[in-house]
Amino acid sequence: MVLNIDVDKINVQSIYDEALPQALSLDVLRLDKIHDVVSGNKWFKLKYYLQYALDNNITSIATFGGAYSNHILATAFACNQLGLKCTGFIRGEKPLHFSDTLKDALRLNMQLVFISRNDYKHKDELMQQHNNLYFISEGGYGVQGRKGAAEILNVVDDADKYDYIVCACGTGTMMAGIITSLQSHQQCIGISVLKNNYQSEDDVKKLLPAQYYSNIKIIHDYSFGGYAKHTSLLIEFMNRIYLRHQLPLDFVYTAKSLYAVYDLAKKDFFPAGSKALFIHSGGLQGNRSLPNQTLINS
Ligand SMILES: *Cc1c(COP(=O)(O)O)cnc(C)c1O
Repeated sequence: MVLNIDVDKINVQSIYDEALPQALSLDVLRLDKIHDVVSGNKWFKLKYYLQYALDNNITSIATFGGAYSNHILATAFACNQLGLKCTGFIRGEKPLHFSDTLKDALRLNMQLVFISRNDYKHKDELMQQHNNLYFISEGGYGVQGRKGAAEILNVVDDADKYDYIVCACGTGTMMAGIITSLQSHQQCIGISVLKNNYQSEDDVKKLLPAQYYSNIKIIHDYSFGGYAKHTSLLIEFMNRIYLRHQLPLDFVYTAKSLYAVYDLAKKDFFPAGSKALFIHSGGLQGNRSLPNQTLINS
């Protein structure tokens, strides 16, 4: 596939921080560096869906998402590069002013179709009405997405040295992929960014062969009020991390999950001497939905 993904830009950043116990060594996998706007895990998750489309002469892709969705923008960008037509079904009525995300998607020739929140809940019907389109699920959820995410750790030279891989968990597709790529001494910890979304364990299971079920570990304590919600504590954390480590975080996924790493470490969740790799899954474009000057790096 001729998709222009610059995986060479991905690097591993070691974090030395007095706010972490010395007995934990923490590295960050900077998937956010893939691209300025379209960054992170979405590349990996989309890869096999797009490959399938290309292999089967499918020319029209469609998918779903909200007005600030990283997945919508990544799909628009990838389809634009590959010469595929694409439609984004966007949750909610057509807004008076488009978000930066939607403006970018339009510029990349994605056709936007706004659907009411109620219709959005009945996506199956919509898909039947548009059965000429090849649909990718919201967030790239699915086995093809899992297969792409299983390649994330391939970009790390010595991934085997880590005891823990920590990542944000939305649909759980990334986590499912990572789980299949681990050695037996390693564990993936998913930090749910949705409020009390206890069905996410089952969502991850549906993507995995049964042998992996016992490896699913999702922590539900760090949603900060719910999906795409935030608190001043979270914003302060993001600003501190940026000042201290020049590490920009997005408020929807990576800020919450990195906060969880710090908090869990303080609570001695990780045995002394553990090595953890935190996946910076990207998503920085989503910060454009925050008011100006919320973040010091905006
Ligand atoms: C979409 C996204 C996730 C969630 O990935 P899932 O596979 O849906 O769990 C995590 N981080 C970022 C930055 C994302 O954009």
